[in-house]
Amino acid sequence: MSTTQTTPPPTQTLTKVAVAQGDGIGPEIMSATLRILEAAGAPIDPEFIQIGEKTYLNGDASGIGEDAWETINKNKLILKAPITTPQGKGYKSLNVTLRKSLNLYANIRPCRSLTPFVPSLHPNMNVVVVRENEEDLYAGIEHRQTPEVLQCLKLITIPGSRKIVREAFEYARTNGRKKVTCMVKDNIMKLTDGAFHDMFKEIGAEYPDIEQEVQIIDIGAARLASNPLNYDVVVTLNLYGDIISDITAEIAGSVGLAGSANIGKNFAMFEAIHGSAPDIAGQNIANPSGLLNGAVMMLQHIGATDIAENITNAWLKTLEDGVHTADIFSENFSTEKVGTQEFADAVIARLGQRPSTFEPAKYAASSRREAQNEVVEESLPTPSKELMGVDVFLDHANKDAQKLGEALSSLEGAPLKLKMITNRGVKVFPNGNPETFCTDHWRCRFVSLDSNIQVSPPDYRPVHALEVIELQKTLTEHGFDVIKTENLYFFDGDRGFSLGQGE
Ligand code: NAD
Repeated sequence: MSTTQTTPPPTQTLTKVAVAQGDGIGPEIMSATLRILEAAGAPIDPEFIQIGEKTYLNGDASGIGEDAWETINKNKLILKAPITTPQGKGYKSLNVTLRKSLNLYANIRPCRSLTPFVPSLHPNMNVVVVRENEEDLYAGIEHRQTPEVLQCLKLITIPGSRKIVREAFEYARTNGRKKVTCMVKDNIMKLTDGAFHDMFKEIGAEYPDIEQEVQIIDIGAARLASNPLNYDVVVTLNLYGDIISDITAEIAGSVGLAGSANIGKNFAMFEAIHGSAPDIAGQNIANPSGLLNGAVMMLQHIGATDIAENITNAWLKTLEDGVHTADIFSENFSTEKVGTQEFADAVIARLGQRPSTFEPAKYAASSRREAQNEVVEESLPTPSKELMGVDVFLDHANKDAQKLGEALSSLEGAPLKLKMITNRGVKVFPNGNPETFCTDHWRCRFVSLDSNIQVSPPDYRPVHALEVIELQKTLTEHGFDVIKTENLYFFDGDRGFSLGQGE
């Protein structure tokens, strides 16, 4: 077997990369990956950083120290092996910290099947999930508000949605992909998921060359699992993307094979999808393919396209030759069961060769890093904003909605009037259904005394911010336990809040 090993020519500029060797199987798969990159002549200069378990256990609850930040900020590029987050309260997820601190808004996860060499439910599947990486329920803003009720805030921003949707279309265009599917749940979350859907339609209009569709996430995820061949690029919100990218990796063959890119305007981080697998750490049996595929995405990102192709082709040839690590070993398709480092040796030995069953890799010639740096932050017009009322949330143990409604309707000295009360989003006053299950958490909507709440749709009138404060004071003086308020705004004349179910 011919061995083609190359080293970068002396004049070639090397791109400095902050390399985190990670925890568990991290150091083993990183060593295997770096050996392959070096043998292939990848134009990178690794600078090692210490992050993760050791840093956590040294008393740094963020898992990352000053030195590591300095190297990351200087190099702007990270290759990261998986990290173990210690059990117990107080430790912050390092992945979430890195994504948010470095504005890594896009998480790109390509998943393809490798049949017949790695068994998959879906031969020929090849799907890329583009997941929003910073927002949604991952803002981590949670509160217990009453003895019975806890909440987690779902934050969706218009600029964040625009950026990720544009990233998905740009990715599709650069990589010769034909279709982008947007997955949302805007039949229920009309404002948050609805805004994401709107941005998809608006930005999608700039990409007429790419087929576009929108699916509700539940049926979309089901169809993705049952017929992934109908999908090409999928763009979605953070939580949905977290779930469907694991589904796509699993049905493609194994979570151990897929790499992932976290992309921002000035920084980018590349890793495997899987975790630190402490159950097999230190045994030289882990599959380094996920991290290797992450590293290949990094090479594409910096424009080292031919080296990325060479590595992928050697990797595919290794799999075709049946040289497999334990996780993908099968009597039918494997010829040799190898350890982590031996797998890397096998890939290195095949550099310069092309697969014969799989289609050889062909990556886009342009550097995504340059394109990314050219992205100009959009400045969007600021809409007019008018205060039209307030939702006051009460902790109220007595579960009689009628009684509460009557008490709030006849509140002496209140500057605003009660429009309705909901419990867990369902209208319970006026004209509630006695069957509705109620908790101790009541959303009471107050509007201007001048509003006509009898008409449909109701005629809202502006209120003054001081009236909202005055209302809270009045409620508190009457013994009500106000736990929070949400102002009701219209933006450019459009209602910026949801109606209660049954309102
Ligand atoms: P995991 O992905 O580490 O392991 C799940 C299973 O897959 C295990 O049986 C493991 O042996 C196997 N596996 C994973 N990667 C493999 C590989 N390359 N080769 C062969 N088998 C492999 O998930 P987990 O056990 O839930 O998490 C372990 C730790 O990893 C946790 O501390 C978790 O917080 C962390 N984690 C880190 C990241 C990251 O750093 N990006 C991602 C996910 C989980």
